[in-house]
Amino acid sequence: AKILTDRIGRIEVSATMAVTAEAAKLRAQGAKLVDFGAGEPHFATPRHIKDAAIEAINGNFTRYTAVAGIPEVRKAIVERHACDFGSDYSPEECVFTTGGKLAIFNAVQVLVDHGDEVILPVPFWVSFKDIIQYAGGKPVFLETSEAENFRITADAIEKAITPRTKAIILNSPSNPAGSVVSPSDLERIVRLAHERGIYLLLDECYVYLQYTGALVSGGSFTDAKEHVIVLGSLSKTYAMTGWRAGYALGPKSIIAAMSKLQSQSTSSTATFVQKAAVAALNSSQECVAEMRADYLKLRDRILNRLSEIPNITCTRPEGAFYVYPNVSAYLGKPGAQTAMELAGRLLNEAHVVTVPGEAFGTKQHIRLSYAVSHDDVEEGLKRMKEFFAKLS
Ligand code: PLP
Repeated sequence: AKILTDRIGRIEVSATMAVTAEAAKLRAQGAKLVDFGAGEPHFATPRHIKDAAIEAINGNFTRYTAVAGIPEVRKAIVERHACDFGSDYSPEECVFTTGGKLAIFNAVQVLVDHGDEVILPVPFWVSFKDIIQYAGGKPVFLETSEAENFRITADAIEKAITPRTKAIILNSPSNPAGSVVSPSDLERIVRLAHERGIYLLLDECYVYLQYTGALVSGGSFTDAKEHVIVLGSLSKTYAMTGWRAGYALGPKSIIAAMSKLQSQSTSSTATFVQKAAVAALNSSQECVAEMRADYLKLRDRILNRLSEIPNITCTRPEGAFYVYPNVSAYLGKPGAQTAMELAGRLLNEAHVVTVPGEAFGTKQHIRLSYAVSHDDVEEGLKRMKEFFAKLS
C-alpha cells in the first residue's frame, strides 16, 4: 500500500544537501575544507541582538504569543520598512514567521491552487520550485540572459503571462547570481501585476545586501501594492540564520490567511526571537552597513581571483553574497561531464565546497558563497586555480 502522499512526492530534498553530506564525510576524515557552499553569513549575530534574547528569557518572556507575532515586532517591521523604503503598511498587514522560508511557503500555500502557473526566473533559488509544486502549482521557468547579468525585466515577465498565471516570484538581489531588478523595471512589474490581477511575491531577503544603486522594495510603490507580497528575513541582514526570523508584508486578507495557516502549524515564532528581532530592527543599523562593506570587499576579491583562472567567466553580482561563474569550458570531459560532477571533483580533489548549477536550474555554472573570511577566499581560489590547471 502507498504510504506517502502524492504531494510529498512532488518535492525533492534540497539539492545542496548532497554536497553538504559529502563534505561532512570528508571533514570527519580530517580534511581541511574551504566551504563556499553554505549560504549564510560568517559573522556572529551582533551582541545587542543576542542580549535582547537573553533578557527576554531571563525575564520569563517565554509563553505563547499572538500567532502573527507580538504587536511590538510587527510595528518594528513596518516602521523599519517605511523608513528604509517609503512603504506604508500597518501592523495588520504584517505577519512574523519562523524564517523567511516559511513566509514564502505560507504565501504560496494561500495563493496558489492546483494547476495555477507561477512565473519563476532562472536561475532560481531551488526552494521556490519545490514550494510551488508542493502547493500543486506549475512553475513556469523564465530564462534570463547571462550576457545581461541574468537581469529580469518587465518585458520578459509580460511575455510569460498566460490566462493561468496566478503569481510571479522574484528574488532581488538574487540567489544564486546576485542579480538585481532595476528600480524602473521593478516599478513596471509591480504595476503590471496590479493591472493584470497577478500576485507578485517578492523575496527580499537580500535587500540590504545590495552594492550599487538605490535600495528599493516592491512595497515602495504604495499606490499599487494590492498585489504585492513582500517576503523578508532577518537571517542574512543581521547574521541570524539559526534564529528563524522572517516576515511577510501584504494585503490584510492575505496576511490573515497566512496567519490562519500558521495558527494550525507552527503558531508563533519563539518569544525571545521576537524580542531579538525588535532589537535588531529598532537599534542602529550600523552593524548592517559594516557587514555589507565587508561583503563588497569579499565580492571584489573573489571576482579578481576567479578572473585569474583561464576560461572561467563570471557575471558581476550587484547584491547578495554569491558568485555564479560559468565553468562550461571545463565540462564535457571524462569525469567532469556536468557541473554536478565537477563540483564533486572540486570537493574530493581540491577540498573546496561549491554548489552545482543544476540546483538552480542551469547546467554550466557553480555557485560560491563568499560569506567567508578573506583568508578562505584566497586559499579556496588558489586551490581552484590549481585544480582547473590540471583539468585543462
Ligand atoms: N530566500 C532566499 C533566496 C534564500 O537564499 C534564503 C536562504 O538561503 C531564504 C529565502 C530563506 O532564509 P530564511 O528562511 O533563513 O529566512
